[in-house]
Amino acid sequence: MAATRDETATARTIVLDVPGWPGHLAGQHVDVRLTAQDGYSTERSYSIASAPPDGGAGPPVVELTVQRLEDGEVSPYLTQTLAVGYPLELRGPVGGWFVWNPDGSAGARPVLLVAGGSGVVPLMAMIRARAATGTQSPFRLVYSVRGPDDALYAAELAERERADDGLHVAYAYTRKTPQGWPVPPGRIGTGVLTAPGWTPDRHPAVFVCGPTGFVEAAANVLVNAGHNPRAIKTERFGPSGGQ
Ligand SMILES: Cc1cc2nc3c(=O)[nH]c(=O)nc-3n(C[C@H](O)[C@H](O)[C@H](O)COP(=O)(O)OP(=O)(O)OC[C@H]3O[C@@H](n4cnc5c(N)ncnc54)[C@H](O)[C@@H]3O)c2cc1C
Repeated sequence: MAATRDETATARTIVLDVPGWPGHLAGQHVDVRLTAQDGYSTERSYSIASAPPDGGAGPPVVELTVQRLEDGEVSPYLTQTLAVGYPLELRGPVGGWFVWNPDGSAGARPVLLVAGGSGVVPLMAMIRARAATGTQSPFRLVYSVRGPDDALYAAELAERERADDGLHVAYAYTRKTPQGWPVPPGRIGTGVLTAPGWTPDRHPAVFVCGPTGFVEAAANVLVNAGHNPRAIKTERFGPSGGQ
C-alpha cells in the first residue's frame, strides 16, 4: 500500500501500487484477500475508485475507498490497521457489466448515476474517467447519504461540478440534512431522481449502486418514473454474507 487518505470519520481511501496492473474500466472492482498467520483467509470485493490509468502513461495506481463497519471482519482492518508499505493480496479487475466505457457508444449518451452510501465509489471512477478522457456526455449524480458528514468525495465533487457545466450533483439525506436544506430527511424518491433535463425520454444510461435495499428501492422508483429497465444497471454492495 502506497498511501492513505481519510474521506470521512469512517471511510478511508487506500492507494495501491500494483506492478503489472493490466488497467481497468470505470465501475470494475477487485477482490481483496486477507490471510492470517494460522492460514485462515477471507475475501471481500471493493470497487476501484480511481479512473483507469491513462494508456499506461502514469504509474499503475489503483485506489479503493472502504467504509468501515464497526462489527465487520475486513473493513476495520483496511481502514485502521493496514499501513503504508504493507502488502495486500488482490485479484482483478473483476466485472464487465457494471462499467462505463467512454470509448464505446456509451461515450455520447447522458449518464444518470444513483448512489447509496459507499455505492458512490464505482460511480466516482466513472466521473473521474469522464474528466480524464474529456468526454462531453452530461452526467448527473444523485447521492443518498445519512448526513452531510457521511458524504464521500464531497469537496472533489463540488470542485468538479463548479469546473464543468456537464456534471450535476444532487444530494438526498436520509437522517440529517444541512442547515436550511429545503426538504426533510427521508428515503430517495421521484423528486430527486427526476430533474429538468433528466426525464426518461432522454434515454440516459443509468447506474445504481449501494446496499441491496437501496438499489431495489431506487430502481423501482426509476422504472415507475418511466425509465427503460434494460437501461438500468445495478450493483449491490452487501451485506456480504460470505460472498
Ligand atoms: C462488487 C462489490 C463492490 C464493493 N465495493 C465496496 C467499496 O467500494 N467500498 C466499501 O466500503 N464496500 C464495498 N463493498 C462491500 C464489501 O465487499 C464488504 O461487504 C464490506 O466492506 C463489509 O465487509 P466486512 O468484512 O467489514 O463486514 P462483514 O464481516 O462481512 O459483515 C459485518 C456486518 O455488516 C453487514 N454488512 C456487510 N456488508 C455490508 C454492507 N455493504 N452494507 C451494510 N451492511 C453490511 C453484515 O451483514 C454483518 O452484519 C462491495 C461489495 C461488492 C459485492
